[in-house]
Formats: sequence, C-alpha cells, structure tokens
Amino acid sequence: MEKHYQIVVVGGGFAGAAAAISAARMGKNVLLIEKYNCLGGAAVYDLVNPFMGNWTHDPENGGVLVDLSRGLFTEIVDRLDRLGGKSTVCGITFSEEILKYVLNTMAIESGVQLLYQTYVTAVNKEGDRIRSLTVSNVSGSCEIEADCFIDATGDANLAYLARCPYRVGREGDGLCQPMTLCFRLGNVKIPPKSDYKTRINRLYREYQAEGKIKNPRENILVFPTLLDSVLHFNTTRVVKLDPTNAEDVTRAEIIAREQVFELYNFLRENFEEFRDSVLLSTGMQIGARESRMIDGEYVLTQEDLLAFSKFEDSIAVCNYDIDIHSPDGSGTSHYYFPDGQYYGIPYRCLLPKKANNLLVAGRCISATHEAQASVRIMPTCCNLGEAAGVAAALAVENSVAPREIDVNRLQSILRANGAKLD
Ligand SMILES: Cc1cc2nc3c(=O)[nH]c(=O)nc-3n(C[C@H](O)[C@H](O)[C@H](O)COP(=O)(O)OP(=O)(O)OC[C@H]3O[C@@H](n4cnc5c(N)ncnc54)[C@H](O)[C@@H]3O)c2cc1C
Repeated sequence: MEKHYQIVVVGGGFAGAAAAISAARMGKNVLLIEKYNCLGGAAVYDLVNPFMGNWTHDPENGGVLVDLSRGLFTEIVDRLDRLGGKSTVCGITFSEEILKYVLNTMAIESGVQLLYQTYVTAVNKEGDRIRSLTVSNVSGSCEIEADCFIDATGDANLAYLARCPYRVGREGDGLCQPMTLCFRLGNVKIPPKSDYKTRINRLYREYQAEGKIKNPRENILVFPTLLDSVLHFNTTRVVKLDPTNAEDVTRAEIIAREQVFELYNFLRENFEEFRDSVLLSTGMQIGARESRMIDGEYVLTQEDLLAFSKFEDSIAVCNYDIDIHSPDGSGTSHYYFPDGQYYGIPYRCLLPKKANNLLVAGRCISATHEAQASVRIMPTCCNLGEAAGVAAALAVENSVAPREIDVNRLQSILRANGAKLD
C-alpha cells in the first residue's frame, strides 16, 4: 500500500464521501479512510432517514421551489432515483443499501482510493503541521502521510487527536443533543389515511405519565420507508451522557436498546396495526446528533442564522430549522426560517486552529450548539464536504495552506459544479 497521498480524508459519511470525490475529481491523489465497511456514515450505521429538507420557496419569484443543497448532493439523489432507491413521500426517503452502492461507485469512478475497516488512532504533528496519521486494521498498524488532511469523522476525531481547540455541547452545561438508536419495524399493517399516529401518541403519553414508558421523548417520531409495511423510528432518546466518552456511549447503547423493546412491545400489545410486526433492524451504532465541534477561524452562531447572514466566504447555504432535541429530557424546539430566507456558512468554519494542513467538514465544523442544530443535516454535510474537498485540492495545487487558498476560486468551482452560494 502506498503511504503518501496528496489528500487523506478520514470518515466516509456524507461529508467525507463528498470531500474525497470532489478532491479526486480535481485530479488529486486521494485516500479515504473509514472505520466500517462502506460509505454513508450516519445514514447507514446509525440508520438515519430521510434526508431533511434544505429548500425554500422564493416569494419574489412566484413561490418557485429553490433547492439549497445542489452540487454533489443532487448527483447522489439522482443516482439513487435511477436505481430505485429514493422516494419523495416524506422529505427524501432513501434506501441505505442503494446509497452504499451509489457512493462506492461514485468514489471509484472519481479515482478515490478507499481503505475500509481502518481506524485512525493517532495524528503525528511537526509543529502545527500534520505529517501523518497512525491507523490500525487487519494488516496491523502503519503511518499514512499526506500534504493535506480532511477530518470528516463527525466527532472531530482528527482535530481532537491533533490537539486543536474544540467545544462539546451547549454553552453553560456542555450537554449535547440526545443520542438515538433508530430502528425499523416490518409487517406493519397501516391502512391508507390511518390516524394511527394520533392514537399511538395519546396512549404513549398516558403510559409515560403512569411511568410505564421510561423513554423521555415527548412523542413517537416515526417515518415511512420505501416499503408500505415497514416503518422507521427515530424516537429513542438518551440524555445527559457524553458522546465523546466511550463508557457513556456504551451505557447509551444499552439504555437505547431497552427503549427499542419498550416501544416495540407497547405497539404490539396495544395496536392492531402492529400486532404481527417484526423488529427488522436497529442501527449498527447509536447516533450522536452532536459531539465535538472545532473552535475554528469563525464560529457560526444562532445570531448569524437568525440574521440570515451571508458571508464573503460562504461555501454553502442552509435553512433547515434550528431543531434542538432537548439535551436534558422531554421536548424538541424548532425555529423555522421564513420562506425565501436562508443563511450562509463561511469557509472559515472549516479551518481549525493549531493545524495548518487540516480541514474539517460535516457536523463537527466550527459552530455553536444552536447553529449546529441546523447545519447538521445530511444535505448540508454533503455540501460542506464538497467544499472541503475542492479547497484541499486548491491548497495542494498551489502548495499553500488551506487558509491561504483563493476563496473566490473555491466558490467559482463550487458554483460551476451546481452549488448555490448566494
Ligand atoms: C439519530 C439521528 C437522527 C438524525 N436524523 C436526520 C434526518 O432525519 N435527516 C437528516 O438529514 N439528518 C439527520 N441527522 C443528522 C445527520 O445524519 C448527521 O449529522 C450527518 O449524517 C453527519 O454526517 P457527517 O459526514 O458529518 O458524519 P458521519 O455520517 O457521522 O460520518 C463520519 C464517519 O467517520 C467515520 N469515523 C469516525 N471516526 C473515525 C476514525 N477514527 N477512523 C476512521 N473512521 C472514522 C465513521 O465511521 C463515519 O462513517 C440525524 C442524526 C442522528 C444521530
């Protein structure tokens, strides 16, 4: 195996896959390292579905629908569609199995070298420059060097190992949004126009009040899937545990699995539609909506979002609501953007301090708890990854640090690839 690359991307979620594909399409020699066996990240390992909407109606243009997450994300969705892996029944519902295949295909066609089942265990620095990563896999342990690195680990693992400053959770108590183990029930018999959601939630609340349901979530959050008889549940809730602490994560996995069976039994025992249902799957791991976020060259805040701020160095735009699942119990708060309004995400949010050849993409960019609650959706993570990949390619091409690249050039390449930036 080659040990030096122009660009090494760690993490194969939406951010990492998009970063690697966009950098490789700029002719760079790119390695993508992923600890599991495929691309897709939270969409596949955490069983997260559907893609939340990042679009708006333009009131100045007859209310026409404007898609804010164009570029590689559009290409992924189109490819999913062509293979029968997408439906628009609720946001964009997709098949994670087809997504795995689509992303593999796109990465390989673009010339990305993939290294699966490999975990980055250390970052080796010389001053503020990262020289190499230490990785561990079935072959043993080795060092991999690169000119430029991209941290798309969701947990800012590379930035953490590189001793870059970061934050965890909300200001004040440091609590993160809850962790959730998603699951699917099959052989569910829901007739068309059924009011089942109202009925199950009414009884759920009664059971909760009587202490028969321990899950602190205020209601049952359930989505359709590509199959009528299969429902997707994003509804377990584990609060006040730290997603960056391995022991807490283990406890969270155990608590959430209890909640899956609590819900499954509740539905089977009380509702005809679920009487013969089968627990088809749970996520391979509990999902963390929020964990480490770098403290980068710019910190995106709730104030920026509420002012619909656009920045000279915007590399993505977003208007998904500020969607905060309570970090300490029941409740979910939302701020919905008015029609036609959205905010920009500055390139500086991808630049950590204390590592000058590192970019960060995805849900761990530099943002506060509140701002991250909007940025974190898969379409936006994909846009951020695409921007990081192009930026890394420009840095390597011009032998400069990512913070020194020509941001106008970055924006014009993203626009040429379909992105909406203003
Ligand atoms: C429960 C839950 C529900 C959600 N619901 C929705 C929803 O309905 N719609 C929506 O659009 N978004 C939703 N989100 C948000 C969204 O799924 C994530 O924020 C987004 O997918 C994150 O993408 P990412 O690429 O930044 O990180 P990830 O998808 O987490 O990818 C990070 C990758 O890095 C790999 N990795 C980490 N550390 C290492 C290491 N040291 N070495 C090698 N590889 C490593 C991981 O295996 C993973 O593949 C939800 C999230 C959760 C947790």
